[in-house]
Amino acid sequence: MPYIEFNNVVKRFGDNTVLDHISFGIEKGDLVTLLGPSGCGKSTLLRCLSGLEQVTEGSIVLDGVDITRMPASKRNIGMVFQQYSLFPNMTVEQNIAFGLKMQKAPADVIEKKVGEAIAMVELQGKEKAYPANLSGGQQQRAALARSIVTEPSVLLLDEPLSAIDAKLRRALQSRIREIQQELGLTTIFVTHDQDEAMVMSDVIQLFHAGRIEQAGSPVEVYTRPVSEFAASFIGSYNQMSREEFRTLTGEVVPAGNVVAIRPETIGIYAELPEVDGEGFVLKGTVAGSTPRGNVLRYTVRVGESLLRVDALFRSFHMFDAGEEVYLFIPERDCLRIPAAA
Ligand code: ADP
Ligand code: MG
Repeated sequence: MPYIEFNNVVKRFGDNTVLDHISFGIEKGDLVTLLGPSGCGKSTLLRCLSGLEQVTEGSIVLDGVDITRMPASKRNIGMVFQQYSLFPNMTVEQNIAFGLKMQKAPADVIEKKVGEAIAMVELQGKEKAYPANLSGGQQQRAALARSIVTEPSVLLLDEPLSAIDAKLRRALQSRIREIQQELGLTTIFVTHDQDEAMVMSDVIQLFHAGRIEQAGSPVEVYTRPVSEFAASFIGSYNQMSREEFRTLTGEVVPAGNVVAIRPETIGIYAELPEVDGEGFVLKGTVAGSTPRGNVLRYTVRVGESLLRVDALFRSFHMFDAGEEVYLFIPERDCLRIPAAA
């Protein structure tokens, strides 16, 4: 039996159905990411789990106990939000100790646990600092320490890194993942960033307008999108209608399907390539390119179509706009997925 279960959870605000029959389970010790665009209901589901909102229909079970109507204060759930939620008039140490003091833990226990939590998030030396004197990343680490120090049954992280710049963000992603695994802490992580979801998660629940569009491991969701929405949200897939794909390749696609192709599965060559295996060789013209870290994303015009093609970024071998190129698309990387209704 899963550690957390959402059973047909519906949440309405007036006429607005924000969660539309959400059902899934979370295994103990897993980090599950709710991934989806802004406004699709991710925070609302966390708030229902933590007890800050009441569900309209359905039930939530935590460790075998139905908590649907249990007061928030009894649920033992830790939470970190996007906006820094530290008490401004308390030091780092006092912020982290707060929950333990509320639980009336003895002073020596508090001191020991706060010390351990500070070490875990690497804030040694900042014990006496006030939130206003910390960077954004330090504040979020303090908030994380504050929420794990009481040993919650579940940790909820609602876009905790979205206000933090890219480089630090990657470091914090790994640190959070390490701490979560070290403590075996069942965690729900919310983000609208597919890359963040890929690196953090045991399981991704892809949300779309109050429903779950797809669930699976990062690799499954990345390589096997089940719908046009999934393919547009993860993996930057090139998506083509049946007609477009047939025009390009001569291949007939079953009715009701589109074809999705990831940019990095397409090869790009200056000369007609000698290729192994089944696939399609197309002749096109480079329309432009954008560096994206260690890959270069080309836009290549083939007939009426524009294809995104990712190649390793090698400054000694780049194609210029206007250059003629050959593309090779392996047949096995042309996914047939159901067209949106
Ligand atoms: P996400 O976290 O995925 O961006 P939210 O769960 O915050 O999305 O919001 C989903 C929808 O629910 C939005 O349309 C939002 O306006 C609406 N909503 C959230 N909270 C409330 C509320 N307290 N009252 C009315 N509508 C709300
Ligand atoms: Mg939100």
